[in-house]
Amino acid sequence: MNTDARLYQDLEGILYSREQINEAVCRIGKRITEDYEGREPVMVGILKGASIFFADLIREIDLPLSIDFMALSSYGNATRSSGVVRILKDLDRDIVDKDVLIVEDIVDSGLTLSHLQEVLATRGANSIRVAALLNKKLSDQSRKKLVPDYCCFEVPDKFVVGYGLDYAQKYRNLPDIGILARRIYEK
Ligand code: 5GP
Repeated sequence: MNTDARLYQDLEGILYSREQINEAVCRIGKRITEDYEGREPVMVGILKGASIFFADLIREIDLPLSIDFMALSSYGNATRSSGVVRILKDLDRDIVDKDVLIVEDIVDSGLTLSHLQEVLATRGANSIRVAALLNKKLSDQSRKKLVPDYCCFEVPDKFVVGYGLDYAQKYRNLPDIGILARRIYEK
């Protein structure tokens, strides 16, 4: 899909192109490979937003890793986190003594992931870290409950879509990351 495709007309602008995303994903894949040398991390993809990032990231990690997925309650069609985490799909395997790396699309307040980390910490993992595609820069930093250990980009406090991130289940298939035009979610 190129940038004159119909879906792009709902964007205020493109933040990161597919080439920039690819470069950043390779960069953090390399860092994870170095940091987890000698270990066999369990990569946990958070459905559905992280699916595309997850698929690209694990192929840049040169380790004997395993994968699993979780689905958490989402915003519905709203644009802010409720802070309440409901597990819609849990891990298939236990994580006792495992090095868990949660792969998420975007950290906004960090409420979702800090709650998830607390839940997973009770299950006996050796370590739990977070790799996020995006980390939102908030004007009120006291709202930030978690900073990802690995992150591709810092983004402004706007509603972003593409490369897996949706609005009302749409725009996940945009190959780039863009800011959704306000008229789309304010109508
Ligand atoms: P938090 O709990 O960190 O405030 O919110 C994290 C979740 O909110 C993300 O996993 C994502 O589903 C959703 N979210 C937060 N900001 C955005 C955004 O700008 N765009 C999209 N598509 N989802 C967002």
